[in-house]
Amino acid sequence: MARFDTFFQTALTELERNGTRRVMRNVERRDAVTIVRDGRVLLDFSSNDYLGLAHHPLVIERACAWARQWGGGSGASRLVSGTTPAHQQVEARLAAFKKTQAALLFASGWQANASVLSALCRLAMTRTGEAPLVFTDRLNHASLHHGCQAAGIRQIRFRHNDLEHLSALLESRRNQPGMRFIVTESVFSMDGDRVDVAGLRTLAERHGAFLYLDEAHATGVLGPQGQGLSGLTDGIDLVMGTFSKALGSFGAYVAGSRAMCDWLVNCCSGFVYTTALPPANLGAIDAALELVPGMEAQRQHLHDNARQVRQAIRQMGLSTGTSSTQIIPVEIGDIGRTMAFAAILEREGILGVPIRPPSVPPNASRIRLALSAAHDRTMIDRLIAALATATAEVVA
Ligand code: PMP
Repeated sequence: MARFDTFFQTALTELERNGTRRVMRNVERRDAVTIVRDGRVLLDFSSNDYLGLAHHPLVIERACAWARQWGGGSGASRLVSGTTPAHQQVEARLAAFKKTQAALLFASGWQANASVLSALCRLAMTRTGEAPLVFTDRLNHASLHHGCQAAGIRQIRFRHNDLEHLSALLESRRNQPGMRFIVTESVFSMDGDRVDVAGLRTLAERHGAFLYLDEAHATGVLGPQGQGLSGLTDGIDLVMGTFSKALGSFGAYVAGSRAMCDWLVNCCSGFVYTTALPPANLGAIDAALELVPGMEAQRQHLHDNARQVRQAIRQMGLSTGTSSTQIIPVEIGDIGRTMAFAAILEREGILGVPIRPPSVPPNASRIRLALSAAHDRTMIDRLIAALATATAEVVA
């Protein structure tokens, strides 16, 4: 026995008692639409590879080519000796894609949100001598919460995607000192609904607030040329997104003004104190950024599939909540039923992940379906048939 086994085991036993203990299951093989687990082939409706780019030949080829040219790792952090022309090329491509003055690469979306937000809050505190007022959507991703926590900020949370509530909260603090931040997502990871970016921008302007938008699930999928919802308007002060979802690889970006990016290079610990992204990763990102603007037909196919699946689920008498994107929750509520529903889908050859607290609020357990442009008609029909079987056995 290791010295602290009891310490950890007690916590694990508690999780088991609550029915919330998680385990990682091995995926033996995968392609854009299937995985092999325990020797069984499953149609994959769990991945965030929304455009099927993780297995695109150009993405794989450029990852290999850049590794051959630059090596397996970058060797140092960006400010030491880790910045190469490959990093600069990708950042220039990104800024052009997002139509911003500048863009910066980060090691992951989690790391970007957790470190950028805390650095921003600290700057606001130093500049104004007052704690900033940070308005956040109740369903924001854990990394955004972490960023606020790391800065010791007490968030002012507005009801999910409710801009009237946000407006009232901003109004009620009109005379309070401190810089204002509005922090939200353009597409929510568990609900698949979209934010009204133009409405947000109007509110941010009216209250002089800094607008921080997480485009993790919109980048590549929505907006002109897959640019994300920030592409529908200007005036978003900071846009972040990841390469780990529709762009098919790994890493993240922040896009915005030159001055903001230059400041982050100096003051954001999650940028300064970590090793620069490795060349193979940069090659994959570069190829994805080249491909994404021209993938309009794939985006259309993805949205058509999503519309069909949402409609079928509603016809089964189940709710898909406020989803209007490729992320479709099948809302079940109870943890036990949700787990049983997922098990039936798996028996029918479909992988759709059950999501339960703490990832979602209590009694909001659901199956989170994530569609890909690589799914064809037959695959969508198989999904709908399996959903109908699981509904009949567990819910009806
Ligand atoms: N923001 C949102 C909204 C996300 O859903 C995620 C990933 N789950 C992240 C940030 C983190 O991104 P990454 O996986 O690149 O760390």
